[in-house]
Amino acid sequence: MVEETWFGVLAEYMARQQAGLGEEVAIMTYDDVEYSERFDYNDNSKQQAPGKETKRVDGRHFLGTYGLSADEIDSLLNLAEYYCRVNNDSASLPLEVLRGKMLANLFFEPSTRTRLSFARAAVNLGGEVVELESKMSSLVKGESVLDTALTLQAMGVDALVVRHAAAGVPAFLAHSLSIPIINAGDGAHEHPTQALLDLLTIRQEFGRLQGLTALLLGDIRHSRVARSNLYAMRTCGLRVRLAGPPTLVPEEMTRLGAELAPDVDGALREADVVYVLRIQHERQQAGMLPSLAEYRSFYGIDARRQFLLSDKAVIMHPGPINIGVELTAEVYASARSRVLRQVSNGVAVRMAVLHHLLSGPRN
Ligand code: ASP
Repeated sequence: MVEETWFGVLAEYMARQQAGLGEEVAIMTYDDVEYSERFDYNDNSKQQAPGKETKRVDGRHFLGTYGLSADEIDSLLNLAEYYCRVNNDSASLPLEVLRGKMLANLFFEPSTRTRLSFARAAVNLGGEVVELESKMSSLVKGESVLDTALTLQAMGVDALVVRHAAAGVPAFLAHSLSIPIINAGDGAHEHPTQALLDLLTIRQEFGRLQGLTALLLGDIRHSRVARSNLYAMRTCGLRVRLAGPPTLVPEEMTRLGAELAPDVDGALREADVVYVLRIQHERQQAGMLPSLAEYRSFYGIDARRQFLLSDKAVIMHPGPINIGVELTAEVYASARSRVLRQVSNGVAVRMAVLHHLLSGPRN
């Protein structure tokens, strides 16, 4: 099942590339379909994550939040919480958890936060990091992604952090390598460590996750952050509402347990967490967005919209932000913004994931 799923997504992507259709992405991935079949969207009390065996291959990899149970998420967040405290006391760093271990960052798409915070996390745990610059590597001589990954493994690298524009690449590598693969973002599919750091931020804010309402606002269609958050938030008992231009909010997402919120201002009033998503210019198909000015006026968070929020509500964004489009500079710098807290929590969450996958003797 896993093979069919992931090779299917990858094959579709490759075929589209060859046909000159660029990096257009499927609205729903095969995982989504399977999730929606198992998800009882009419009865929130019965919501269940699918079995973990369907997603994580054999538990050695970290490919998505799809299939993680509430207990698994909870224990990763608890470990991350512990690492938040450790990181505040720089004298205790580096730890010994990853002593002698080396992580490789293999990014085929740009990144600031994810890439550097994985590096920081590995160093904090006493490990080392090697960065593969794809444009300076043998990839430009035609070496495949798989051969590159196998080469790094043969050098004794202990884990690969992989980001790629095609959904399914990390899972594809997980089937051929024996070292852990961590998904740092694959196309519009998943970005699991982002979702975990978001949940940690929310839990710190409210002291719980169960029963809160999150509004995901913006370009849901192209957002891997939206998918990973949707899976994880529903598993942890949050109500998830979606708002944005109809072209960028696929109705099919309701099959994954989300609700559509056509009245943005009303939804802002009811939200505990307003999670603003970036307009993904690099994944846009022509014609999905009439203009950025229209987007800003219909959906952008400015001082007026911020005023609609309840007293305790917070504003989050995974970054990078198109300042002045999704939210104004004033909102970004406001007391409600948790954007930089998210970034700090990203280091602790990635430490927890690396600890979970890599601590202990090499096998
Ligand atoms: N940094 C996040 C990602 O890589 C969000 C974004 O780019 O909008 O998916």
